[in-house]
Amino acid sequence: MRTTWVVGNWKMNGDLASNAALLESVVKSIPLSDSAKVAVCVPFPYLAQVQSALSNSAVVLGAQDVSQFEEGAYTGEVSAKMLKEFGVSLVLVGHSERRSLFGETDVVVAKKAKAALDAGLMPVVCVGETLAEREAGQAQAVVLRQFSVVANEVGAEGLKQSILAYEPVWAIGTGKTATPEQAQEVHSWLREALLELGAESVSMLYGGSVKVANAAEIFSQADVDGGLIGGASLVASEFLSIAEAAR
Ligand code: PGA
Repeated sequence: MRTTWVVGNWKMNGDLASNAALLESVVKSIPLSDSAKVAVCVPFPYLAQVQSALSNSAVVLGAQDVSQFEEGAYTGEVSAKMLKEFGVSLVLVGHSERRSLFGETDVVVAKKAKAALDAGLMPVVCVGETLAEREAGQAQAVVLRQFSVVANEVGAEGLKQSILAYEPVWAIGTGKTATPEQAQEVHSWLREALLELGAESVSMLYGGSVKVANAAEIFSQADVDGGLIGGASLVASEFLSIAEAAR
Protein backbone atom coordinates (compact mmCIF):
# COMPACT_ATOMS: atom_id res chain seq x y z
CA MET A 1 0.00 0.00 0.00
CA ARG A 2 1.42 3.36 -1.02
CA THR A 3 0.87 6.41 1.14
CA THR A 4 -1.20 9.21 -0.37
CA TRP A 5 0.23 12.69 0.17
CA VAL A 6 -1.00 16.21 -0.41
CA VAL A 7 2.02 18.50 -0.07
CA GLY A 8 1.66 22.27 -0.16
CA ASN A 9 4.54 24.31 -1.58
CA TRP A 10 4.18 27.89 -0.42
CA LYS A 11 7.19 29.01 -2.48
CA MET A 12 8.36 32.54 -1.53
CA ASN A 13 4.99 33.62 -0.15
CA GLY A 14 3.57 34.37 3.27
CA ASP A 15 4.14 36.56 6.29
CA LEU A 16 3.69 35.98 10.00
CA ALA A 17 0.06 37.12 10.05
CA SER A 18 -1.17 35.33 6.93
CA ASN A 19 0.73 32.12 7.83
CA ALA A 20 -0.99 32.06 11.23
CA ALA A 21 -4.44 32.49 9.68
CA LEU A 22 -3.84 29.88 6.96
CA LEU A 23 -2.46 27.30 9.38
CA GLU A 24 -5.25 27.82 11.88
CA SER A 25 -7.83 26.88 9.24
CA VAL A 26 -5.81 23.99 7.87
CA VAL A 27 -4.90 22.45 11.24
CA LYS A 28 -8.43 22.44 12.60
CA SER A 29 -9.79 20.73 9.48
CA ILE A 30 -7.24 17.98 8.97
CA PRO A 31 -8.19 14.95 11.08
CA LEU A 32 -5.50 13.57 13.37
CA SER A 33 -5.79 10.24 11.66
CA ASP A 34 -6.33 10.61 7.95
CA SER A 35 -6.06 8.30 4.97
CA ALA A 36 -4.05 10.98 3.14
CA LYS A 37 -1.05 12.68 4.70
CA VAL A 38 -0.89 16.45 4.44
CA ALA A 39 2.29 18.55 4.55
CA VAL A 40 3.28 22.18 4.02
CA CYS A 41 6.69 23.24 2.69
CA VAL A 42 7.39 26.72 3.99
CA PRO A 43 10.12 29.35 3.62
CA PHE A 44 13.06 28.89 6.05
CA PRO A 45 12.41 31.96 8.25
CA TYR A 46 8.96 30.65 9.15
CA LEU A 47 10.01 27.16 10.22
CA ALA A 48 9.81 27.94 13.93
CA GLN A 49 6.45 29.64 13.58
CA VAL A 50 4.99 26.79 11.54
CA GLN A 51 6.55 24.11 13.76
CA SER A 52 4.74 25.61 16.70
CA ALA A 53 1.46 26.07 14.81
CA LEU A 54 1.52 22.42 13.71
CA SER A 55 2.29 20.90 17.12
CA ASN A 56 -0.46 18.44 18.09
CA SER A 57 -1.70 18.37 14.52
CA ALA A 58 -1.41 15.73 11.81
CA VAL A 59 0.02 18.21 9.34
CA VAL A 60 3.66 17.48 8.51
CA LEU A 61 6.28 20.22 8.31
CA GLY A 62 8.40 20.49 5.18
CA ALA A 63 11.04 22.78 3.70
CA GLN A 64 11.55 23.79 0.09
CA ASP A 65 15.27 23.19 -0.30
CA VAL A 66 18.29 21.85 1.55
CA SER A 67 22.03 22.13 1.16
CA GLN A 68 23.96 19.29 -0.40
CA PHE A 69 26.66 20.01 2.23
CA GLU A 70 26.69 18.94 5.87
CA GLU A 71 28.13 22.06 7.51
CA GLY A 72 30.80 24.71 7.24
CA ALA A 73 31.74 27.63 5.00
CA TYR A 74 28.70 27.66 2.70
CA THR A 75 27.22 31.13 3.10
CA GLY A 76 23.48 31.24 2.69
CA GLU A 77 22.98 27.46 2.80
CA VAL A 78 20.72 25.58 5.22
CA SER A 79 21.70 22.05 6.23
CA ALA A 80 19.48 19.01 6.63
CA LYS A 81 20.50 18.81 10.30
CA MET A 82 19.28 22.38 10.88
CA LEU A 83 15.94 21.52 9.29
CA LYS A 84 15.64 18.48 11.57
CA GLU A 85 16.10 20.71 14.61
CA PHE A 86 12.97 22.60 13.64
CA GLY A 87 10.85 19.48 13.29
CA VAL A 88 11.05 19.27 9.53
CA SER A 89 10.20 15.79 8.18
CA LEU A 90 10.30 16.28 4.45
CA VAL A 91 12.04 18.56 1.99
CA LEU A 92 11.57 19.34 -1.69
CA VAL A 93 14.64 18.74 -3.82
CA GLY A 94 15.06 19.55 -7.48
CA HIS A 95 11.95 21.67 -7.85
CA SER A 96 11.99 22.99 -11.43
CA GLU A 97 12.31 26.57 -10.15
CA ARG A 98 15.53 25.55 -8.37
CA ARG A 99 16.76 23.79 -11.49
CA SER A 100 15.90 26.56 -13.97
CA LEU A 101 16.36 29.76 -11.92
CA PHE A 102 19.22 28.67 -9.65
CA GLY A 103 21.14 26.34 -11.92
CA GLU A 104 20.70 23.12 -9.97
CA THR A 105 21.92 20.19 -12.03
CA ASP A 106 20.80 16.57 -11.79
CA VAL A 107 23.97 15.86 -9.81
CA VAL A 108 23.33 18.65 -7.28
CA VAL A 109 19.73 17.49 -6.89
CA ALA A 110 20.92 13.93 -6.25
CA LYS A 111 23.40 15.13 -3.61
CA LYS A 112 20.65 17.12 -1.91
CA ALA A 113 18.43 14.04 -1.81
CA LYS A 114 21.31 12.09 -0.25
CA ALA A 115 22.02 14.81 2.31
CA ALA A 116 18.36 14.84 3.30
CA LEU A 117 18.24 11.06 3.68
CA ASP A 118 21.48 10.97 5.68
CA ALA A 119 19.89 13.35 8.20
CA GLY A 120 16.68 11.34 8.40
CA LEU A 121 14.57 13.65 6.25
CA MET A 122 12.30 12.43 3.47
CA PRO A 123 13.22 14.08 0.17
CA VAL A 124 10.42 14.88 -2.26
CA VAL A 125 12.38 14.51 -5.48
CA CYS A 126 10.87 16.63 -8.27
CA VAL A 127 11.28 15.74 -11.93
CA GLY A 128 9.63 17.08 -15.07
CA GLU A 129 10.16 18.13 -18.64
CA THR A 130 9.85 21.59 -20.22
CA LEU A 131 7.38 22.33 -23.01
CA ALA A 132 10.18 22.33 -25.59
CA GLU A 133 11.34 18.92 -24.38
CA ARG A 134 7.80 17.52 -24.53
CA GLU A 135 7.25 18.89 -28.01
CA ALA A 136 10.52 17.36 -29.14
CA GLY A 137 9.34 13.97 -27.90
CA GLN A 138 11.90 13.92 -25.10
CA ALA A 139 9.64 13.88 -22.04
CA GLN A 140 10.33 10.25 -21.21
CA ALA A 141 14.09 10.54 -21.66
CA VAL A 142 14.31 13.71 -19.56
CA VAL A 143 12.21 12.46 -16.67
CA LEU A 144 13.97 9.09 -16.54
CA ARG A 145 17.39 10.77 -16.70
CA GLN A 146 16.50 13.09 -13.79
CA PHE A 147 15.20 10.10 -11.84
CA SER A 148 18.14 7.82 -12.54
CA VAL A 149 20.79 10.30 -11.37
CA VAL A 150 19.02 10.43 -8.01
CA ALA A 151 18.45 6.66 -7.96
CA ASN A 152 22.15 6.02 -8.57
CA GLU A 153 23.11 8.35 -5.73
CA VAL A 154 20.68 7.10 -3.07
CA GLY A 155 20.01 3.49 -4.17
CA ALA A 156 16.80 1.54 -3.80
CA GLU A 157 16.88 1.84 -0.01
CA GLY A 158 17.11 5.62 -0.26
CA LEU A 159 14.30 5.75 -2.78
CA LYS A 160 12.08 3.81 -0.40
CA GLN A 161 12.49 6.64 2.14
CA SER A 162 11.65 9.25 -0.53
CA ILE A 163 8.66 10.62 -2.41
CA LEU A 164 8.75 11.36 -6.13
CA ALA A 165 6.90 14.28 -7.68
CA TYR A 166 6.27 14.61 -11.39
CA GLU A 167 5.86 18.28 -12.26
CA PRO A 168 5.81 19.12 -15.95
CA VAL A 169 7.49 22.53 -16.08
CA TRP A 170 4.91 23.80 -18.57
CA ALA A 171 2.13 23.17 -16.06
CA ILE A 172 3.65 24.92 -13.03
CA GLY A 173 1.91 28.15 -12.13
CA THR A 174 0.62 28.45 -15.70
CA GLY A 175 -2.93 27.26 -15.18
CA LYS A 176 -2.20 24.52 -17.74
CA THR A 177 -2.61 21.16 -16.06
CA ALA A 178 -1.42 17.93 -17.60
CA THR A 179 -4.42 15.82 -18.52
CA PRO A 180 -4.95 12.90 -16.15
CA GLU A 181 -3.80 10.63 -18.99
CA GLN A 182 -0.59 12.63 -19.53
CA ALA A 183 0.15 12.51 -15.81
CA GLN A 184 -0.57 8.79 -15.62
CA GLU A 185 1.64 8.06 -18.62
CA VAL A 186 4.70 9.69 -17.05
CA HIS A 187 3.95 8.17 -13.66
CA SER A 188 3.78 4.73 -15.28
CA TRP A 189 7.27 5.21 -16.77
CA LEU A 190 8.60 6.13 -13.36
CA ARG A 191 6.75 3.28 -11.68
CA GLU A 192 8.36 0.86 -14.08
CA ALA A 193 11.80 2.29 -13.29
CA LEU A 194 11.05 1.93 -9.57
CA LEU A 195 9.84 -1.62 -10.08
CA GLU A 196 13.11 -2.58 -11.74
CA LEU A 197 14.89 -1.39 -8.59
CA GLY A 198 12.46 -3.12 -6.24
CA ALA A 199 11.24 0.27 -4.97
CA GLU A 200 7.73 0.29 -6.46
CA SER A 201 6.19 1.18 -3.09
CA VAL A 202 7.41 4.80 -3.43
CA SER A 203 4.60 7.39 -3.43
CA MET A 204 4.46 9.53 -6.54
CA LEU A 205 2.79 12.92 -6.61
CA TYR A 206 1.62 15.00 -9.54
CA GLY A 207 2.20 18.76 -9.44
CA GLY A 208 1.40 21.64 -11.78
CA SER A 209 -1.74 23.75 -11.53
CA VAL A 210 -3.62 21.25 -9.37
CA LYS A 211 -6.89 22.89 -8.35
CA VAL A 212 -10.12 21.89 -6.67
CA ALA A 213 -11.70 21.30 -10.09
CA ASN A 214 -9.12 18.81 -11.37
CA ALA A 215 -7.64 17.21 -8.22
CA ALA A 216 -9.96 14.23 -7.85
CA GLU A 217 -9.56 13.09 -11.44
CA ILE A 218 -5.78 13.39 -11.39
CA PHE A 219 -5.49 11.64 -8.01
CA SER A 220 -7.68 8.76 -9.24
CA GLN A 221 -5.07 7.70 -11.80
CA ALA A 222 -3.48 4.33 -11.05
CA ASP A 223 0.06 5.56 -10.41
CA VAL A 224 -0.73 8.97 -8.91
CA ASP A 225 -0.54 9.01 -5.10
CA GLY A 226 -1.55 12.60 -4.43
CA GLY A 227 -0.26 16.02 -5.35
CA LEU A 228 2.28 18.77 -4.89
CA ILE A 229 0.26 21.95 -4.70
CA GLY A 230 1.66 25.45 -5.26
CA GLY A 231 -0.76 28.35 -5.70
CA ALA A 232 -3.78 26.54 -4.32
CA SER A 233 -1.95 25.69 -1.08
CA LEU A 234 -2.03 29.37 -0.09
CA VAL A 235 -5.83 29.44 0.16
CA ALA A 236 -7.09 27.32 3.07
CA SER A 237 -10.43 26.38 1.50
CA GLU A 238 -8.77 25.27 -1.74
CA PHE A 239 -5.97 23.36 -0.06
CA LEU A 240 -8.47 21.58 2.21
CA SER A 241 -10.73 20.63 -0.71
CA ILE A 242 -7.74 19.23 -2.57
CA ALA A 243 -6.75 17.21 0.53
CA GLU A 244 -10.33 15.97 0.68
CA ALA A 245 -10.09 14.85 -2.96
CA ALA A 246 -7.08 12.69 -2.04
CA ARG A 247 -8.92 10.72 0.66
P1 PGA B 1 1.34 25.31 -8.94
O1 PGA B 1 2.81 24.91 -8.45
O2 PGA B 1 0.37 24.38 -8.25
O3 PGA B 1 1.16 26.73 -8.54
O4 PGA B 1 1.33 25.10 -10.44
C1 PGA B 1 3.18 23.58 -8.22
C2 PGA B 1 4.62 23.53 -7.77
O5 PGA B 1 5.45 24.25 -8.33
O6 PGA B 1 5.00 22.78 -6.85
